[in-house]
Amino acid sequence: MRLRDLPSVDELARAVNDPLAVDAARTVLARAREELRAGFDPGDLANRVKAELAVRRGPGLRRVLNATGVIVHTNLGRAPLAEPALARVLEVGRGYSNLEYDVTAGTRGSRQDHVAGRLRRLTGAEAALVVNNNAAAVLLALAALGEGREVLVSRGELIEIGDGFRIPDVLARSGARLVEVGTTNRTRAADYEEAVGPETAVLLRVHQSNFRVVGFTELPRLEELAGVARRHGIPLVDDLGSGALENVPDEPSVRESLEAGADLVSFSGDKLLGGPQSGILVGRAELVERLRRHPIQRALRADKLTLAALEGTLALYEQPGRAFREVPVLRMLVEPVAAVRARAERLAGSVDGVVEETVARMGGGALPLTELPSFACAVEEELGLRLRAQEPAVIGIVRDGRLLLDCRTLSDGEADEVAEAVLACRSR
Ligand SMILES: *Cc1c(COP(=O)(O)O)cnc(C)c1O
Repeated sequence: MRLRDLPSVDELARAVNDPLAVDAARTVLARAREELRAGFDPGDLANRVKAELAVRRGPGLRRVLNATGVIVHTNLGRAPLAEPALARVLEVGRGYSNLEYDVTAGTRGSRQDHVAGRLRRLTGAEAALVVNNNAAAVLLALAALGEGREVLVSRGELIEIGDGFRIPDVLARSGARLVEVGTTNRTRAADYEEAVGPETAVLLRVHQSNFRVVGFTELPRLEELAGVARRHGIPLVDDLGSGALENVPDEPSVRESLEAGADLVSFSGDKLLGGPQSGILVGRAELVERLRRHPIQRALRADKLTLAALEGTLALYEQPGRAFREVPVLRMLVEPVAAVRARAERLAGSVDGVVEETVARMGGGALPLTELPSFACAVEEELGLRLRAQEPAVIGIVRDGRLLLDCRTLSDGEADEVAEAVLACRSR
């Protein structure tokens, strides 16, 4: 078929009796044009309109297979949930729950109580609070503790996390005033000491999640910052970003941060922790209580499905080693490279691909310098477009004119699905 042999939108839509047919035909023809230019035959167009209609009537938010090698991929939904966490979501979501009801006393309860105990045990904190995401957690902390007053932050930590989310903007929205301390590459405890004034409400430290300044650099240790904060009687808030509950090399753990003297620590539920999207705040009871009472807390609170998934995830951390076996994000992080290679070899064997050595990443701003050794199955680059049109869609990485299907972020079962998808694309 050639470009000029393609039917018009109306002609194609008439072949299918459906009110959404015109729109579907337009999409199919746009794709067919791209495929013809790439040297593919677009196949039976009427059938593709029917398939497109089925997709439109089906769910918009769907499963994809992540063959990018980026474990916490924000565009692909960050952390896949562990089975026990999913089981909690099903059970709690299916019927009524004690979300805000104290069953023993027969009175109103708090939705925060269900996870607070576990978070205290896992981090050593006095108190804990869960909101929608870590950006909300930082916003709430600054609004409750710094509104109308000054927050000190190192110039080297005024970062953009991604998609335009910038720490200085969040600070401005919280109603606190930003006071920049030190320089981009060097900030010392003495810089904070000098900047503290009568209007200072908070010392904020922000983990340099997604980048590192290298060379002539200096940042004070958290213990030194805690010393400054204590001398002046102001709280030290530590935005850890990822925040590990287990020991992960090169990533600060929440417990370490509290032990070093942070008064309040905030971190994401769906980065290294491997749970649902949420923002977790742990620290001194009196501060957490101020956050809980602040009016915007009500607008930022997590819903019951999130709390169910978070509780199910946290439970896996309570038995030594279990999180590394059952939380998908941690399992992918520590999987021996030989196992990843074996998966890539099996995939390459089924689709006549080539095994390639690759570098996988944690993503989500965690472990930015850590290169995880990995293996991919390389196939022809042209398949990329068609693989994304499969159900589930397969997302790979284009490198040197080939499509790499990284096997660190695929389970064995998912690699089989990728194989099927590749074969289906080639046979069309
Ligand atoms: C990721 C990140 C955030 C934002 O967390 P979300 O859960 O995406 O809202 C805030 N601060 C730091 C340092 C981060 O790495």
